Amino acid sequence: MSESATSGAVGMTVASAFAGMRSVAPVVFRAGCPDCRGRFELAASALRLAIGATSRTTFYSFTCPECGASVRKPAGERIVELLTGGGVSTLRLHSTL
Ligand SMILES: [Zn+2]
Repeated sequence: MSESATSGAVGMTVASAFAGMRSVAPVVFRAGCPDCRGRFELAASALRLAIGATSRTTFYSFTCPECGASVRKPAGERIVELLTGGGVSTLRLHSTL
């Protein structure tokens, strides 16, 4: 009856409130291309992070949107935190125990 319709509406309101709390501003990362020297912002989905055994084998990579070059750059601890926190897909090359 009309009562069940009302409770359904309330449920929807709660759900949308939760959705609003969960949604975050889209994360973008500033990057530069060593090939064409272009500077641009990349979404998390455009970046790949590879974590190796040491910081020397830990890097992030992306494809330059301006010249199409694949760029690979070393990622320090802070960058790794930033990228993983921003939802960048991470590949673990070596598991550190
Ligand atoms: Zn480029």
